[in-house]
Amino acid sequence: MDYFFREQLGQSVQQRKLDLLTITSPDNLREGAEQKVVFITGRVHPGETPSSFVCQGIIDFLVSQHPIACVLREYLVFKIAPMLNPDGVYLGNYRCSLMGFDLNRHWLDPSPWVHPTLHGVKQLIVQMYNDPKTSLEFYIDIHAHSTMMNGFMYGNIFEDEERFQRQAIFPKLLCQNAEDFSYSSTSFNRDAVKAGTGRRFLGGLLDHTSYCYTLEVSFYSYIISGTTAAVPYTEEACILSPHPALGQPSSSREYPSLTGQELGPQLR
Ligand SMILES: [Zn+2]
Repeated sequence: MDYFFREQLGQSVQQRKLDLLTITSPDNLREGAEQKVVFITGRVHPGETPSSFVCQGIIDFLVSQHPIACVLREYLVFKIAPMLNPDGVYLGNYRCSLMGFDLNRHWLDPSPWVHPTLHGVKQLIVQMYNDPKTSLEFYIDIHAHSTMMNGFMYGNIFEDEERFQRQAIFPKLLCQNAEDFSYSSTSFNRDAVKAGTGRRFLGGLLDHTSYCYTLEVSFYSYIISGTTAAVPYTEEACILSPHPALGQPSSSREYPSLTGQELGPQLR
């Protein structure tokens, strides 16, 4: 597989790996190539396990032979950091890092030794932003919500009405295409308590051509529009049911063996 690369972007306080996946056509990684980047992060809040199921689904789709996945790889570079808080996940924390910080409140000024994984990801994003050959099109941080149903998004509020309206298009499209995604639960805010989140920080840093969202998915269930019954998310449904795009159960999908051989020269 010449369009999937894995590298270690950094490490946590307890020296666990901060993985970074790159999924794109090798042509986009040529020296001097212009890149349109979609950056996705997950599990900054370690207890929000649905974040990993969604992230896994995104990865499975992007590396598949589905025609849309092939086109996406041709035009875009996907950068995915599936686990921003590996210490918290290992320790069974619900929301915090090893040192008791909610990492999603420290994007403004992450410390390389107190919040090293956040620091590493932020450095990479800022570096991309400053690279004239790179256009950071989307940043999506995947979370899970303990009380809301369905999937939904948080976005930013901008003074520029046209930018604000453009930002609403992606969640509207998701709502039209995913039966468990709700546009009516999607909201846009700029309250002080969320100022240190990735979505807010990057929404302020990046220019009007970038879109930053928090994607929330319900811990429990979704309600299909026009009905009232909640459809629970279950492990069996995720693992055993055929993936609508790939046409086969995820448990039988073959995952690439990840060896150094498969790392492109640009990423070694
Ligand atoms: Zn969260």
